[in-house]
Amino acid sequence: EGLRELLLSRIADVPDYPKPGVVFKDITPLLADPAAFGALTDAFAALCERYAADKVVGLEARGFILAAPVAVRAGIGFVPVRKAGKLPGATLRQAYDLEYGTAEIEIHADALKPGDRVLVIDDVLATGGTAEASLELIRRAGAEVAGVAVLLELGFLAGRQRLEAGLKGAPAEAL
Ligand code: 5GP
Repeated sequence: EGLRELLLSRIADVPDYPKPGVVFKDITPLLADPAAFGALTDAFAALCERYAADKVVGLEARGFILAAPVAVRAGIGFVPVRKAGKLPGATLRQAYDLEYGTAEIEIHADALKPGDRVLVIDDVLATGGTAEASLELIRRAGAEVAGVAVLLELGFLAGRQRLEAGLKGAPAEAL
């Protein structure tokens, strides 16, 4: 399909980043191409409509870049999920496991209302740890998970399987 080819052609492989043996998927060429970025934004916005989302959650940091124009295009609110310690108001915090150690993310405690349907957007689904923790935050905030949508899924890391329990039947889409 045209969209998939366009998006893939604007993602660069960077070998040995951030460490030897890892191939990093660099989305900056896509962000620099308004046709590709626009097509991606439209596709994410169409998912908001299909899943009747009324909030978009972006995951720090590249998820912010992708999710913000989607929120505007879809006419719904944008809510940031940030690394711990960055949000000024009262927050909910969720820890998750990394390859080595743990990390923590936060959401403003009052950012979502009970009954809100939330689409989570990020650039890359790798092990799924970040997205899984965000689903937990959304539920703890009293809202409903409409789905998870990413630009790119690294299938060999099995993130989709890790998300299964947290999604409770909601869709995970990789564009
Ligand atoms: P996970 O928690 O699924 O293992 O990792 C996903 C998070 O790490 C995402 O927020 C994503 O931005 C980042 N990430 C992991 N690998 C890559 C990659 O190859 N390229 C980019 N752009 N981000 C990555």
